[in-house]
Amino acid sequence: MEDLCIRCTLPQSRLEVAVAVTTQTCRAAQEAHKLQVTSAVALGRLLTSVGLMSTTAKRNGTTSVQFVMRTTLRQLFADATHDGHLRGFAKNPNLSFPLFEGETLLSRRSLTPALKPGEISVIRMSDRAAEYTQSTTPITKGEVDEDLEFFLNQSDQIPTALSADVMADAEGVVIRAAGVLTQALPDGDVERLERIRTNLRDGQLTRHLSRELAAHELVEAMFPDARTIDAVPLGWQCRCSMEKVLGSIRMLGPTDLAEMIEANREVVVNCDLCAHRYVVEPSEIAKIFKAQIKARG
Ligand SMILES: [Zn+2]
Repeated sequence: MEDLCIRCTLPQSRLEVAVAVTTQTCRAAQEAHKLQVTSAVALGRLLTSVGLMSTTAKRNGTTSVQFVMRTTLRQLFADATHDGHLRGFAKNPNLSFPLFEGETLLSRRSLTPALKPGEISVIRMSDRAAEYTQSTTPITKGEVDEDLEFFLNQSDQIPTALSADVMADAEGVVIRAAGVLTQALPDGDVERLERIRTNLRDGQLTRHLSRELAAHELVEAMFPDARTIDAVPLGWQCRCSMEKVLGSIRMLGPTDLAEMIEANREVVVNCDLCAHRYVVEPSEIAKIFKAQIKARG
């Protein structure tokens, strides 16, 4: 089933809702970075939340969110384009908490010990790349989605309820992921928003994840009065490319290039964001070197 973010309004309440299913994206992130269960759940919640924030942003561009922690997880990063391309990483891929007391494979896992204390930075860049805004807040709850909800309420001053969750099987493999973002329009029914938030905190989304639902089925189950505006496909997709890797090699001077040719070894470049591995053959480096020498006369 394809990952999708459905944007709706609740017309009677003047609330905007976005509901996303992100199972394939979170599983792709887990496979790319070889994430153990706690790292996978944390990054999956962040990817889902950032995907919701970016696809519902009023302006085209990218939204990047970084969590920096003084814990063994150290750092989480995700970014999303307005049209639903998601990427990111967990600095420590190997975190694997056992289920805590009261937790089951079907319940929400607590991430607090992995996420507190620390800070969140949110960077929004418009398509005109010169324009960007950055804001920082402390990590309040240590559950990713609740922290971003706090950020959106405090920093953006928009009444917001946000929940994102990732479920894994007994082997720690991601089996389902989804998220819900609700925001009030001016004069929106903030009491209803409060009730939505209370239900989310009470585990409403996580209970729906116990069975496989498409995004439109999640909308129907959670918001029967929703009117759909549009749907944006979401996917694990980085903006790195072999062309960009070669571009960075072209930035090196002839001395460095000559040394690389002398060593006659392929150059391996790993993308931090999506873990894709690029291998540049010595013949390719020789080509860049020759072009540089020629250009210098
Ligand atoms: Zn990449």
